[in-house]
Amino acid sequence: MRKRVLITGAAGFLGSHLCDRFIDEGFHVIGMDNLITGSLSNIEHLFCLEQFEFFNHDVTTFVHVPGELDYILHFASPASPIDYLKIPIQTLKVGSLGTHNLLGLAKVKKARFLIASTSEIYGDPLVHPQDEEYYGNVNTIGPRGVYDEAKRFQESITMAYHRFHGMETRIVRIFNTYGPRMRLNDGRVIPAFMGQALRGEDLTVFGDGMQTRSFCYVDDQVEGIYRLLMSDYSLPVNIGNPDEITIKDFAQEIIKLTGTDQKIVYKDLPKDDPLQRKPDISKAKEILDWEVTVRREEGMKKTFNYFKNLSKEQLYKSEHKDFSKHIRK
Ligand code: UDP
Repeated sequence: MRKRVLITGAAGFLGSHLCDRFIDEGFHVIGMDNLITGSLSNIEHLFCLEQFEFFNHDVTTFVHVPGELDYILHFASPASPIDYLKIPIQTLKVGSLGTHNLLGLAKVKKARFLIASTSEIYGDPLVHPQDEEYYGNVNTIGPRGVYDEAKRFQESITMAYHRFHGMETRIVRIFNTYGPRMRLNDGRVIPAFMGQALRGEDLTVFGDGMQTRSFCYVDDQVEGIYRLLMSDYSLPVNIGNPDEITIKDFAQEIIKLTGTDQKIVYKDLPKDDPLQRKPDISKAKEILDWEVTVRREEGMKKTFNYFKNLSKEQLYKSEHKDFSKHIRK
């Protein structure tokens, strides 16, 4: 009998890569997504497999899954600043109500539960690099608060179910991750720069570009998540690449990589945009024996190849995804 795993956010960037990984590991995979930010094209290659099922469902309402479940991975959430600014209430609900529903499901099914938390729970960090013991510096009422606080609540309720109900739970704190299947127009820096390079537009750096990020290739991220799920460690673990770079230097790297001669143009820094971010990954190394294997240069080449192969129509459809049909008036 195959082990059965439910993956929410299955049609999203990380969710779809996780579906692939669990299929490769011999699982029966049940994907779930309401397709607000996800896209079926990310998982259409799995539809022909009998060990894959898909439910188009919004996890903020009661979740029913027939049959047994061994694992639940909750990856449904808007995950780019532009998305959660456009759909703030859904962002809050999927992290809070959605997590509550899925914890209830995990309890009934006696499934091990893993949630996708984020470096955003550290806010604009005053400790550098960020280790798991740091409590963070989040503006609860700022524009990013809807994401950050939903994710913080998600961690709290998961620990409460672990402690009160004795459930097996895992919490991964995901730092900036990139790779094929990112949405070209989701506003995040890597698709933004790559799309601009491919369209021959100037690269938009926000602020003075001295803010830093540390980018992790998706295969490394998935490996870390898989190892954490299979471990017996229930406290949060950072997974990310500690190789830190300023956004300005990163823009220059992209210009070099894409062989284009774009200029950099500067735009206003969005409110509460963290000035620095770099994971302390000692815990992941020690507990999961995990480390980064894909250097930025190699990962960016693979990612750029993916974007290069998109159709002209996708490349020039620069409008952000239209969420209006999902918003109740
Ligand atoms: N950024 C930028 N130009 C863009 C998009 C993003 O300079 O066109 C900056 C953004 O202000 C932030 C960094 O790149 O400092 C990473 O942004 P992203 O939205 O990818 O993720 P974040 O880490 O902020 O959640």
